Amino acid sequence: MKEYYGGIEAGGTKFVCVIANNPEDILEESRFSTTNPQETIEKTILFFEQAIQKHKIKLNALGIGCFGPIDLNTNSPTYGYITTTPKPGWRDINLLQPIKSALNIPIAFDTDVNAAAIGEGKWGAAQNLDDFLYFTIGTGIGGGAIINNKPLHGLIHPEMGHIRLNQDISKDAYTGKCPFHHNCFEGLASGPAIKGRWGSSAENLDDHHPAWILEADYIAQAMSTYICSFSPKKIILGGGVMQKKQLFPMIHKQTQQYLNGYVQSEMIFARMDEYIVPPGLGNQSGMLGAIALAQSI
Ligand code: ADP
Ligand code: ZN
Repeated sequence: MKEYYGGIEAGGTKFVCVIANNPEDILEESRFSTTNPQETIEKTILFFEQAIQKHKIKLNALGIGCFGPIDLNTNSPTYGYITTTPKPGWRDINLLQPIKSALNIPIAFDTDVNAAAIGEGKWGAAQNLDDFLYFTIGTGIGGGAIINNKPLHGLIHPEMGHIRLNQDISKDAYTGKCPFHHNCFEGLASGPAIKGRWGSSAENLDDHHPAWILEADYIAQAMSTYICSFSPKKIILGGGVMQKKQLFPMIHKQTQQYLNGYVQSEMIFARMDEYIVPPGLGNQSGMLGAIALAQSI
């Protein structure tokens, strides 16, 4: 009986379920919209049960990379819960337990961005690095941190999308999209913030639109803050908005300007294009990260 790992990229927009051992050995994959918790969890369980039967395989373990905020404290009565999300119907939902009861295998649970970071470390742009950061800049903004080769949880888990940034009101008077903080990083620079400010979806704004100068500036402010906070050896920027590849050189230049020669590394002086980079696994970092997370148990 062939052995595999299961992965769930549990996103606020869609769930991606996958059975794989590595990027070259993906057996089954399914994606569906995140509707209400009961229906979404039932679909998830059904996918794995049916695939196990169909292929006559054994799942060694499952990894869940989940949108947050989530409870990662294994000693907490609400371990495995989605907690204070503004997503309707998903507040205080136990995601882990119903899946564990149904599949009865070891399950690793972490944030979507920590899982993606683990995947990038194993197979993507951060191989052989002990300290690096992964961000998604999409419907929301989230960051995962691998520090000393381990995903950082800390008190709860990092919320790097919700730091405060300088907003020059004379250049950008947008109130911000975050329901908790208005003009935090996510509030100013997520896909919905771009749409809210300019009235057009990010993918429909042409490459020379002034939106991108502002976007690169906000991202560079955030990156210079994280470089000073964590001293990462690499920063990976994924998510829908980062498909606008012209952002990368703009972010590189602006981040150098904000750091102003202070952080003494040639990665920052001369090799920015290798330092702040797109995901090596493309749009598969989340789902393959969930597989890598399962393998980390
Ligand atoms: P999610 O964050 O929901 O998992 P994505 O990472 O695809 O999904 O992010 C969706 C956001 O990214 C939307 O706000 C969308 O407008 C934006 N987006 C998607 N594709 C592009 C693109 N090619 N260029 C710029 N923005 C994009
Ligand atoms: Zn916020």
